[in-house]
Amino acid sequence: MEPQRPEIRDEDSLVVRPVTMRSAASQVVDQLRSAIIDGRLRTGDRLPSEHQLAQDFGVSRGTVREAIRTLAASKLVTSSRGAAGGTFVTTPQAGELAEQIGEQIGLWFRAGNITLAEVHHARHVLERECVRLAAANRTEEDLSAMRHPVEESRDPGLGEDEWLATDVKFHTAVSKAAKNSILELAMTAVHLVRPRTNRLMLKELDRDEIAEQHWAMYEAIRDRDSGAAAQAFERHFCYLHEMQQRALSDADAETVPVLDIPADSSSASPPFTQPLQEASRLTVRRSRIPGDRRESNHR
Ligand SMILES: [Zn+2]
Repeated sequence: MEPQRPEIRDEDSLVVRPVTMRSAASQVVDQLRSAIIDGRLRTGDRLPSEHQLAQDFGVSRGTVREAIRTLAASKLVTSSRGAAGGTFVTTPQAGELAEQIGEQIGLWFRAGNITLAEVHHARHVLERECVRLAAANRTEEDLSAMRHPVEESRDPGLGEDEWLATDVKFHTAVSKAAKNSILELAMTAVHLVRPRTNRLMLKELDRDEIAEQHWAMYEAIRDRDSGAAAQAFERHFCYLHEMQQRALSDADAETVPVLDIPADSSSASPPFTQPLQEASRLTVRRSRIPGDRRESNHR
């Protein structure tokens, strides 16, 4: 398939910010991150002291501190005080990782023109297995993480977005209970677009019916009954499939790009067209070199 060239629709639509040089701290971050990725640093390893790192990298201790803070924000290291303290390499949880790569996944959904049918199919395959595994591996903590959103969802005062959020929360808890990080990560990619896929058929969905279906899944997982859990999921999925078909009427799920569906009730258009917040927003005319002659953007 030929990759499509992005098209600049009108000459004022390209919004850029001036390029900045990469800081010493981000270069330190890159080196440490590479060492973690290729296994030179492993989970549980203690990093050399701040003083030592500053010397090795040839930077100030403040720069090392800044780099460590960045790595800590990405859950790649954790620091502790005391005699046995220090900065240690950690492994981010699938949920934390997914949060970090959410933006890239969004970009990928857009670039690959991922359709509703693809998301739907992937969800069916992945979640069916998650549900079975959840019945075998769930903990008490998982059960309460599943139960709360179902109880919450029964509140008739919930707005559309809040109600949709309880659904994603419930299914996220199920995939977490499966205790398979790769399945959980893959499911998170699906969940990222769930508010959109659900929104499409919102008018068709019966809240009581959904709560009952979720509860049936919960009970089977609680009772460690993999077969019943998978069956309850199939019932939920078939219902959703039917409602999706009804909502699409003549449209074909194979041809609907999932990111063309608004993510929440306030956004009529997908997030990529939202205005930037920065005060330094610049408008560049295509015939000019960025940074050469800029025009401020009148908003
Ligand atoms: Zn659901």
